[in-house]
Amino acid sequence: MAEPRAEVLVDLDAVRSNVARLAALAGPAETMVVVKADGYGHGAVPVAEAALQGGATWLGTAALSEALDLREAGISAPILCWLDPVGTDYRPAVEAGIDLSVSSVEQLRAVGDARVHLKIDTGLSRGGCPQSRWPELVRAAADSDVHAIWSHLACADEPGHPSVDAQAKRFAVAYEEALAAGLSPRRHLANSAATLTRPDLHFDMVRVGIATYGLNPVPGGEKLLPAMAFRSSVVSVKPLPAGESVSYGHSWTAAGDTWVALVPVGYADGVPRLLSNRMSVLLGGERRPVRGRVCMDQIVVECPPDTRPGDEVVLFGPGTRGEPTATEWADAIGTIDYEIVTGMYRPRVTRTYLGRR
Ligand SMILES: *Cc1c(COP(=O)(O)O)cnc(C)c1O
Repeated sequence: MAEPRAEVLVDLDAVRSNVARLAALAGPAETMVVVKADGYGHGAVPVAEAALQGGATWLGTAALSEALDLREAGISAPILCWLDPVGTDYRPAVEAGIDLSVSSVEQLRAVGDARVHLKIDTGLSRGGCPQSRWPELVRAAADSDVHAIWSHLACADEPGHPSVDAQAKRFAVAYEEALAAGLSPRRHLANSAATLTRPDLHFDMVRVGIATYGLNPVPGGEKLLPAMAFRSSVVSVKPLPAGESVSYGHSWTAAGDTWVALVPVGYADGVPRLLSNRMSVLLGGERRPVRGRVCMDQIVVECPPDTRPGDEVVLFGPGTRGEPTATEWADAIGTIDYEIVTGMYRPRVTRTYLGRR
């Protein structure tokens, strides 16, 4: 069989072991693993299965369609789903036993008999019920099946940021108001960063996304295993005389005689064009620089003359063999590794699962 042109490898053993580590840190709180956006680009169903084996007891998604896909795949664990447009038909959610997030009285009416998690905006100013309307919402929910109240943190990835404590205080007030309205809800607040740094905010459940996938949002924190690797292989190798320039725009020129390898991955496969002249790959056990612009379908790598067509090229991975990491890519172009791995879900890129399924 031919080498895959572009291949994303997802290590499910790494997912299992990350989740086991996070669940141990979170215990006795339960662990929800967030598998929105196709499991941050890793594949929602295989990740969800591995996460449940690793000790997660809940799954979280943004869209209802994502939650229904999990049920379709036979996953029966509790699922919370938190963001759908006005007018969504929630009956399939109720039938499939999917919990829904509710941020307003109107939404509470719209979700019918669904079990709900009431969301308070404690300072992210994104979704959630504003504090001013919260007393009305908790009173209106007196006859609903309220499982929990919850909120989301803005700056947990900057340990010590004063907003974290400020949000926690508002969350405590919201909880008191829910109790005063006669509810007895569970509570959840922590994302990956808070799970790793704020045990006092674990409450009854943590919601871990990025850490599941082995990427740590807190610099210098817990060692996790990055689950995703991205690789390709050399298509051709040729000599490049001194003074010749490479790729569109001729943004790089060879100072001396050298060799270049053509690798068939480009920005259509998830290599950001912004990494042009700013990235290297692992080829023949060494880091080799990408020269010139990243094209839609290909990159050019400066290489030693003994490079051969078919040689493996690792674009990123856990870093254990010296290859770049998704975090290194993100840092080079001023984004976060979340965006890099989530952007790897592309129809043209083969996805292969490693580890026990
Ligand atoms: C995405 C998301 C999470 C997970 O965040 P991470 O930083 O990836 O751990 C948790 N809760 C909500 C509401 C989210 O949207």
